[in-house]
Amino acid sequence: MEIAGSNPAGGTIRPMLSRNDVFVLHLADLLFPSWHPRAGETGPVNAFLIRHRDGDIIVDTGIGPAHQFIDKAYRPVRWPLPDVLSGVGARPASISAVINTHLHFDHCGGNSFFPGVPIFVQAAELEAATAADYTIQEFVHFAGARYKRVDGEADIAPGIRVVPTPHTPGHQSVIIETDGGRIVIAGQALETADEMDNGGDTAALLLSLAPACMLFSHDDRVWRKPGQRAV
Ligand SMILES: [Zn+2]
Repeated sequence: MEIAGSNPAGGTIRPMLSRNDVFVLHLADLLFPSWHPRAGETGPVNAFLIRHRDGDIIVDTGIGPAHQFIDKAYRPVRWPLPDVLSGVGARPASISAVINTHLHFDHCGGNSFFPGVPIFVQAAELEAATAADYTIQEFVHFAGARYKRVDGEADIAPGIRVVPTPHTPGHQSVIIETDGGRIVIAGQALETADEMDNGGDTAALLLSLAPACMLFSHDDRVWRKPGQRAV
């Protein structure tokens, strides 16, 4: 029997993660406001859970609790993070690391569920988030917040890597090596899966990461490499 992550017989090392270890956490729906490129559309706010043998890793944490400005501007429908986690067999206490793609309010709103847990963010993003109106400051700064600054590409755990991608000064996407191929959590580098077909620079950058499939913060559709079977 081949043991994931080891190579006793000199054969190919298999990724330790399965495609089935990666979950989309649909935490909210919101109505994009008048100043947004998708004004008038309703879209999801997704986070992601990676069930890793070294501990569960969550990527982004949703839009947070009721908030006067957010609720007026975005008319959100929320599903509480602990409930959504329990739906996939996890809970806040099982999370050993948080990765924020970026620090806009709809990606870090639930960070305070994780006091003392390392939160991996690009240093440039933490810097950008100090600006007024960039985000909701209390979502970022809470008792027990433990940010781990990352500069550029970095390994977070075996088989999990972050890589800078466009959207904000320190936006990052997450590469996950699985036995079903490489999964890329694009985050908000693109708004929708359709934008993979537009030939733009960001689509080209994401393609260069060699994804078998790709997941998005604000689109429930999964982009798959042509010819890649759905897994
Ligand atoms: Zn967003």
